[in-house]
Amino acid sequence: MEHIFRSRRVLTSGGLTAAAIAVQNGRIRAVRGWNDVPAGAPLHDYGDLILLPGLVDTHVHINEPGRTEWEGFATATQAAAAGGVTTLVDMPLNCMPETIDAQALEAKRHAAMGKTWVDWAAWGGVVRGNADSLPGLVQAGVPGFKCFLIHSGIDGFAWVGEADLRLALEKLRGSSLPLLAHAEVAGPVEEATRVLNEQNANWRSYSTYLAARPDAAEVEAIALLIRLAEEFDAHVHVVHLATVEALPLLSDARARGLRVTVETCTQYLWFAAEAIADGATEFKCAPPIRAAANREGLWQALETGLIDMVTTDHSPCPPAMKRREEGRWDKAWGGIASLGLALPVLWTGMRQRGIGIERIGAWMAAAPAKLAGLEGRKGAIQPEADADFVVFDPDAAWTVTADDLRFRHKLSPYLGEQLCGRVRETWLRGELVFANETIAGQPRGREWTRA
Ligand SMILES: [Zn+2]
Repeated sequence: MEHIFRSRRVLTSGGLTAAAIAVQNGRIRAVRGWNDVPAGAPLHDYGDLILLPGLVDTHVHINEPGRTEWEGFATATQAAAAGGVTTLVDMPLNCMPETIDAQALEAKRHAAMGKTWVDWAAWGGVVRGNADSLPGLVQAGVPGFKCFLIHSGIDGFAWVGEADLRLALEKLRGSSLPLLAHAEVAGPVEEATRVLNEQNANWRSYSTYLAARPDAAEVEAIALLIRLAEEFDAHVHVVHLATVEALPLLSDARARGLRVTVETCTQYLWFAAEAIADGATEFKCAPPIRAAANREGLWQALETGLIDMVTTDHSPCPPAMKRREEGRWDKAWGGIASLGLALPVLWTGMRQRGIGIERIGAWMAAAPAKLAGLEGRKGAIQPEADADFVVFDPDAAWTVTADDLRFRHKLSPYLGEQLCGRVRETWLRGELVFANETIAGQPRGREWTRA
């Protein structure tokens, strides 16, 4: 039987509109006029609350198997559900084994069984020396691959240089899968760190950490990636862009028709270096959060479409690893925990800048869905797509407390932030997974593969 979801404000690809969505067997059958409700059909009428497509976050570190004490499928997917995210794509590192061959992917699938409250997929990893394992991962259905151009923090996930990238791109030729890259190279970081140490820099100071990860490290990495995208006719995706200094390069690559896509993360759009206290290592991530003027430049690039999407790079760790008492930026684990907060954070920032909520649809749903090969099925309210919805109250003002965090460790730089907009309900394939501030139903998330 058809169920009807309707609101005066449904976000479709055509913008916000009054509509009635007909859902059957977990899929959207039709998007009809607001009045077009068949007699007797069960009706979920949300009035003026906004009905958004379920969000897609293509940059999440779930850490299971192997480091489930950092985060795991159950906690991460519940945090996602509470934040309106109905599809996660897991990064291939921080779990053990790292997802760098088909066997490791199998272990991950096994670990996820029966524990996921939203749908998910897994990126494969490109590391030094695993080129021969890539075809197996492609065959096993990964939507694409992730690599690092600098030490990742995880020794089992070896970073790659140009020679390794060439081997990998040769293997991936013809697969059309994207290669996602952590775009910082080691040279400028090592040189800056050496100089800072010579000067006995204070490593509790945020300005020291910022100086140790110069913009040039990102710019140089992105230049290399663009060069390889052109040479191999590959789709290269820059994860967590943090510097505006790389925007001219990216803009030029786009103008030349290269397949280069770009994401930035909520933390780079929300926080600014000037306001980060010394020793506040919950803000540590790489690349680092840069100055306020840089943040405004990232917003502009989002608005013009040069930056395609916004992800979280949710990457938690046990609180002790942040070494908060010591407060040294060079010793603390890098990674920000934020899963579940991205929608109100981004929306609050958009409101402050006069940007309409319509753009959430591309930035947090359609574009990431497309990156992960889920276009048409996820990230849009349209016929044939999965019935994944977020019921969003855009005007609810609230302050983030530890109780609002559903991931494993309640340590996040967003604690105490004042936000606008609250997720009221989340639906996954036609069934409720979050309502009344509570996880609902069963863990019936499923894995999406290309195969
Ligand atoms: Zn990451």
